[in-house]
Amino acid sequence: MAIVPLSCANCGAPLEAPEHARFLTCGHCGTRLRQERSGSAVYTELVDQVAQVASSARDIAEGVSRIAAHHRIEALDREWEETRRGHLIARASARNPIVGLRPALLLLLSGA
Ligand SMILES: [Zn+2]
Repeated sequence: MAIVPLSCANCGAPLEAPEHARFLTCGHCGTRLRQERSGSAVYTELVDQVAQVASSARDIAEGVSRIAAHHRIEALDREWEETRRGHLIARASARNPIVGLRPALLLLLSGA
């Protein structure tokens, strides 16, 4: 099993880890690390930082869907308000027929 020379992403202490070990703990500062590869480069990343980035990405996605839902609710509110206003006008003219007749009366009075 090949041993890879690494350095701790937290304190910089030199480390050695088996080539295929995904996770290791720094013997100097005790930080939990993850072995990463990019091309021929091998380095360590803080496990908690990786978890933190993943959780921030989840928070952002949650925020975006909450905003989208909020906008949809606002649109429904506006739609409902317009519908309600339409019903109120229809009810007002039904209760007070003179309101509905007013245009006809005006036509009669104007002799058109
Ligand atoms: Zn360390």
